[in-house]
Amino acid sequence: MFIYDDVPGGAGYARAIQDNLEEIARLALHVGKNCPNQDCSGACYHCLLGYRNQQIHNLLDRRLAVSVLEYLLENRCPSLSRQDAFNMALGLEAYMRNWEITGPDECPEQFGAVFKTYNDSPIGIRPIHPLSTRPKLDVIDRIREATGILPKIYTSFDLLRRPFWVANHLFRSLR
Ligand SMILES: [Zn+2]
Repeated sequence: MFIYDDVPGGAGYARAIQDNLEEIARLALHVGKNCPNQDCSGACYHCLLGYRNQQIHNLLDRRLAVSVLEYLLENRCPSLSRQDAFNMALGLEAYMRNWEITGPDECPEQFGAVFKTYNDSPIGIRPIHPLSTRPKLDVIDRIREATGILPKIYTSFDLLRRPFWVANHLFRSLR
């Protein structure tokens, strides 16, 4: 992680942050967890979005910063609940023409959701946190053998922010 200030020659902020790093990180965690807008889903004009960063609005999400800060301050590794995983996979449904999503009860625990179609093997969407490592190929093979379902790994970020990209990528990988 790099902390710098963008004033030519520097205004001393980066050094001041270094000297008070823990206090500032704790404050940042508090700010990151609490947007005044109740409907904020990760970035809005009350927290992150502004005129200067408008070109990357679709990429901004304060929850990613919260995960980094929780790891630094509380040694907590990022994780996703089964409900989160299902909700993320559900966001793909609109882009999965001819594929039917199975209910959470029919879905093996390795996946957020399973999609089925009449002439292809079922696909299991396995959401991972953007800060976690991707499972290795042998792990993916083992899941496939154990479930008979083709695992597809996508980050929660991609599933939430660009499900159409995920669907495109998924269909291209099946060809
Ligand atoms: Zn917000």
